[in-house]
Amino acid sequence: KKIIITIDGWSSCGKSTLAKQLAKKLGYVYVDSGAMYRAITLYFLRNHIDWTDTKQVEDALKEIHLDFHFNEKAQSSEMFLNDENVEYVIRDLVVAEKVSDVAAIREVRTFAVAQQQKMGRKKGIVMDGRDIGTVVFPKAELKIFMTADNAVRVERRFKELYEKNPNITIEEVKSNLEMRDYIDSHREVSPLRQAEDALILDNTNITQEQQLHKAMGWVEERLH
Ligand code: C5P
Repeated sequence: KKIIITIDGWSSCGKSTLAKQLAKKLGYVYVDSGAMYRAITLYFLRNHIDWTDTKQVEDALKEIHLDFHFNEKAQSSEMFLNDENVEYVIRDLVVAEKVSDVAAIREVRTFAVAQQQKMGRKKGIVMDGRDIGTVVFPKAELKIFMTADNAVRVERRFKELYEKNPNITIEEVKSNLEMRDYIDSHREVSPLRQAEDALILDNTNITQEQQLHKAMGWVEERLH
């Protein structure tokens, strides 16, 4: 028996870390839904799409092809935009500054959600994001909602981004996380919400091993 596991929550709570750990342990497919919104944003920025214009958005979406490819060497899946590996560039702050605005657009969400649901036709999937348990897979067998203290989240994301770009400041990271959380939870279409049947995982004070152990306990309850 295979199940669908959804992991939603605030920005930089460690959703993707847990999702990857679970996928590896269970032999499931991991899907980073945020990478899809980031790739769409990258396309819009590069092609100077005015995303306040619905027609431009609709036309642009027709030109966008998204794919995940598993990188054996890195042992993780990578985001491809029109056959170009964009896994690295979509993590840039330039994309992070705009992604929540783009992800709030109805047409963009319809486009992304349809592809996400398609990937879930075959069970054995772990998907993380903001609306996975509420909108994409409302019937998922296991829904996790992650939280962590703000300061811890800022610190973690700063460390991650600083490795790539030593010019980045902690203030920039903090304001970006606050802005995205605000927009993501206040938008009209599929705002970030905890599903009623989601289990809360606060990882402020636990290690990655403890977090995996806890989540695996929930998985096993559903498999037996
Ligand atoms: O998960 P990540 O932080 O990479 O997501 C980037 C942005 O994409 C989020 O801040 C949010 O605006 C959007 N997103 C979304 N719905 C999802 C996943 C991500 O709106 N399921």
